[in-house]
Amino acid sequence: MFKKILVGVDGSEHALKAVRLAGELARTCSADLVIVHAYAPIPAGLGEPNLQQAISERLNEANEVLERALQEVGFTPKTVETEALEGGAADVILRVAEVREVDLIVVGSRGLGALASLLLGSQSQDVIQRATCPVLVVR
Ligand code: ATP
Ligand code: MG
Repeated sequence: MFKKILVGVDGSEHALKAVRLAGELARTCSADLVIVHAYAPIPAGLGEPNLQQAISERLNEANEVLERALQEVGFTPKTVETEALEGGAADVILRVAEVREVDLIVVGSRGLGALASLLLGSQSQDVIQRATCPVLVVR
C-alpha cells in the first residue's frame, strides 16, 4: 500500500516507538524507509574555531540519534536511509517528504519536550496541519 515511508526522530522514546511501527509497516508494505532527524540551526556569525566545533557537535549528536533509531527498525525488505538536516523538525520532515515524494509520514505523539501533560507536541501538530500526505501519529 505505502511505497515510501518517512519517520521523524528526536532521540525520545516516543520517537523510537514510532520507528518500530514504521519498520513494521515498511516490512508489511515492502516500502522504502527514510529516518529523518532535524538539528538546531547553528547561530549565525559564529567564528572559528567555534563554528567547526558547533558543526561537529550537531552532526555527532544527529548520528547518534539516527544510529539508535536504525537499531529499532529490524529487517526491511527494501532500503532504509537516514537524513539529518538543520532546521525546525516539522519544516525538515515536510521538506524531505516533499522532495522524496513519500506517501506516509510517521511521528510520535510527543517527543523530548518537558510537558508530560501535552497530548500532542508542537512538531507533530505542525506536521499534521501542513502535510499533503497521510500522517500516522504513534502514541
Ligand atoms: P515540544 O517540542 O512542542 O515541546 P514534544 O517534544 O513533546 O513537544 P514534538 O517535538 O512535537 O513533541 O515531537 C513529536 C514527534 O515529532 C517525535 O516523536 C518525532 O517523531 C518528531 N520530532 C520531534 N522533533 C524532531 C526532530 N528534531 N527531528 C525529527 N523528528 C522530530
Ligand atoms: Mg520537541
